[in-house]
Amino acid sequence: MKAVSLAEGDPTWVFPEESVTPALMASLERSSGQLAEIAGLLTYGRAGWTGSGLEYNLFPPSASCCLYGWAENPQVTFMAELWPPSRKRAGWEVSADIEVSCDSMVRSACGMHVVEEFTQDVFDLPEDAVAALQRATDWLLARCRAVPPEQWRARDPMSGHA
Ligand SMILES: [Zn+2]
Repeated sequence: MKAVSLAEGDPTWVFPEESVTPALMASLERSSGQLAEIAGLLTYGRAGWTGSGLEYNLFPPSASCCLYGWAENPQVTFMAELWPPSRKRAGWEVSADIEVSCDSMVRSACGMHVVEEFTQDVFDLPEDAVAALQRATDWLLARCRAVPPEQWRARDPMSGHA
């Protein structure tokens, strides 16, 4: 997987050329900025592999590409993603969630535990998916502002599981 920042990538990797409008790009930039803002609120926070927020994730050799964004520190991860339609997806898919790393002593490193989830949805139009991504990053930022980073662990329903 190769990560390219929103600013340096080509929107037609994900979107049909006719759907790439200034309004669509402005919305993506806003979502990206919100992820960077979340990282700024977290001690040792980081926003994406490029440090800039929303990124194109390219998967060679299939040439499939999605928009993926995460902001995290050692305590908590905020993530959002947008996938174009494909053989596996009937439409444009948007999801987002807040995760903490597994703290089980029994089954160490089962991965990440989802603490809160934005309602995943599928859309017919790319602009509707981008609007949903905007709502998702609005939600992530609001949750980050509402809950101190060190409190996410205590909200993990799977914390300490066997
Ligand atoms: Zn676990």
